[in-house]
Amino acid sequence: MARRGNLFILAAPSGAGKSSLISALLQDEPADMQVSVSHTTRLPRPGEEDGVHYHFITVEQFKDQINQGHFFEYAEVFGNFYGTSKVTIEQTLQNGIDVFLDIDWQGARQVKAQIPDALGVFILPPSRQELERRLNSRGQDSAEVIADRMAEAVAEMSHYDEFDYLIVNDNFDDSLAQLQAIVKTQRNRLSRQAEAHSVMLAGLLSQ
Ligand code: 5GP
Repeated sequence: MARRGNLFILAAPSGAGKSSLISALLQDEPADMQVSVSHTTRLPRPGEEDGVHYHFITVEQFKDQINQGHFFEYAEVFGNFYGTSKVTIEQTLQNGIDVFLDIDWQGARQVKAQIPDALGVFILPPSRQELERRLNSRGQDSAEVIADRMAEAVAEMSHYDEFDYLIVNDNFDDSLAQLQAIVKTQRNRLSRQAEAHSVMLAGLLSQ
């Protein structure tokens, strides 16, 4: 039997640099890694493509999918619904491909409850000032919008201790190296290795 893929959960407040880290991790499009494309009811932002960044659907469609049990996990995050498709995740893992879920703390809890082996990584900004600077960097938003974003970021960050690994994203290259190391380490866990090398192990241990 082929090795099942590993499931990674990546969470962070907006402004921590999570999307850039995920893009860099997968930039060479390795065949054994995939980022899950979530469904959402929020509207696309400029430059976002349906089916690439998200599957953009209506609230009605989202509720139908909940009722049909299509979601592996879902949550309402700051007024919009977001969810991960059950079938896609299951098939990808079965094909031996590692899956990265870019989800919030509520989704992370639901995933952990179903797959305790899933590995949770939380990414933090190095300081409150730096977070504010990053949230403000577009320079087009009102003080009120920035204050709302800060409050949302603090709410997300308050759940950092529910994860297995913590990356403080001060220096991008260091954070990427840490994320890569976490992925490698998870792949070498005894349970994963025993599954991948069951035939070899049987050969080694036979008398
Ligand atoms: P954004 O609207 O900025 O793309 O995402 C807002 C938040 O929703 C981020 O924290 C993101 O990780 C989270 N999110 C995106 N997709 C999902 C999903 O499928 N499930 C859950 N629970 N959260 C998601």
